Amino acid sequence: MSPLLSVRGITKSFRGLRAVDDVGFDVEPGTVMGVIGPNGAGKSTLFASVSGGLRVDAGTVALDGTDITRWPDHRVARAGLVRTFQLMRPFGTMTVLDNVAVAAASRTADTGRAYERAHEVIERVGLERYRDQASAELPTAGLKRLELARALATSPRVLMLDEVLAGLVPSEREPVVDLLAELRDGGLTMVFVEHVMTAVMRLSDHVLVLDRGRVIAHGTPAEVVEDPRVVEAYLGE
Ligand code: ADP
Ligand code: MG
Repeated sequence: MSPLLSVRGITKSFRGLRAVDDVGFDVEPGTVMGVIGPNGAGKSTLFASVSGGLRVDAGTVALDGTDITRWPDHRVARAGLVRTFQLMRPFGTMTVLDNVAVAAASRTADTGRAYERAHEVIERVGLERYRDQASAELPTAGLKRLELARALATSPRVLMLDEVLAGLVPSEREPVVDLLAELRDGGLTMVFVEHVMTAVMRLSDHVLVLDRGRVIAHGTPAEVVEDPRVVEAYLGE
């Protein structure tokens, strides 16, 4: 099988600091890759570099064989590589339904079809009871689901999630992890950054470990947690 997402030699510096240094990986269709690493390791920079949010200094990104390096993020999203943001930014005064329909409308010019899709996705992520509320009124856990719903409404080929569990208390995390597991079992290809290790272990087929901008380990969850370099990187945090 050829990879759906293929990343090679990505390098991105900020004023001399190499935030991401020669990072590469492949993601096969229908698989899930977790990205972990201490704070400041370069995870968010890598995500932005891959999804078009930042202009890379070097390296290439290919989506299903098409070179999308340096495409602007809206074009990358239209091609099917969609990321959620660590900071959520829905249109607060709009209802949950309208917010998701706007996202769905990026895939169809048919407004009726966009709303149909929005209803499906809202049900999928368990937001029915908030459907007609203004998005700004949602609790944090609801906002996370809304962010997921907006991404899913665009029918992504690869979904990239940056710390969706951040800001949730443990009791709120489990249902979100269950939802991600359902999406994975439905065949969705995902790449996600996460600090919550139980979620990384449960959801990932492969784990990429970054430290100071570089890949220090890559393997199954069981392999990377036993890797001495990984243990050392976290102890030094
Ligand atoms: P992580 O997501 O793993 O915590 P980041 O990718 O956010 O790490 O940051 C990696 C490094 O790059 C950090 O040292 C951070 O301070 C730096 N950095 C990130 N974004 C910027 C920016 N826009 N300007 C300058 N430095 C940045
Ligand atoms: Mg980050």
